[in-house]
Amino acid sequence: MLKLEDSYSHKGQRKALVKTLENKGIMDKKVLNAIGTIPRHFFFDSALHSHAYDDKAFPIGEGQTISQPFTVAFQTELLNVQPGDKVLEIGTGSGYQAAILYLLGAEVHSIEYNKKLYQRTKKFLPKIGININFYQGDGSLGLPEQAPFDKIIVTAGAPVVPNSLLKQLKIGGILVIPVGDRKTQKMMKFIKKTAKQVSQESYSNFAFVPLLGKEGWE
Ligand code: SAM
Repeated sequence: MLKLEDSYSHKGQRKALVKTLENKGIMDKKVLNAIGTIPRHFFFDSALHSHAYDDKAFPIGEGQTISQPFTVAFQTELLNVQPGDKVLEIGTGSGYQAAILYLLGAEVHSIEYNKKLYQRTKKFLPKIGININFYQGDGSLGLPEQAPFDKIIVTAGAPVVPNSLLKQLKIGGILVIPVGDRKTQKMMKFIKKTAKQVSQESYSNFAFVPLLGKEGWE
């Protein structure tokens, strides 16, 4: 059993983080509740625990980051997850975003490019009671063997919207993806209205690590 403590102080810091996110415009109570429930410090090296409830991205090794809580909340709110939704996450990273999706009742399929992060997070999440499906590979191509999905969330910055991802959405499905250059991306939401018709909305700017792979930056 993993020895991780969720103290009063951590819970208090989490409450304060939820308030911060509300003040920044996050309104979905289920999303706020999930952020208020998952101990974000579990996803940090113990030396960095004191930073776990700052509204900031942090390094998780391998040149990658755990996304800023506001970003996680913003993307999750746009995704409008319903219990039972089959959700594909691209960029497992620390597993924090996947844990939030799991808590919202989704059947989560998460793919990570980096082998070490994949192995680490695959071992870690079940230890804290989060049960999702892990894959290692190039998520810019989606996950054809598990398609179609109700929702797809991309947690790395893409140069263009990968066609494979739109193909792997169900009719009525939602894709949330940051699209732009290597430094700044616009958050985009696509809804697949029919097999041929997709609506799109764009939101504010974010700064993600790059989406690698065939339909990413490589
Ligand atoms: N969702 C993560 C979390 O909650 O910690 C944060 C993800 S981090 C900002 C972006 C992740 O995307 C990195 O772990 C990176 O290795 C991964 N990544 C980049 N390109 C990818 C690709 N083509 N397929 C799958 N994962 C990819």
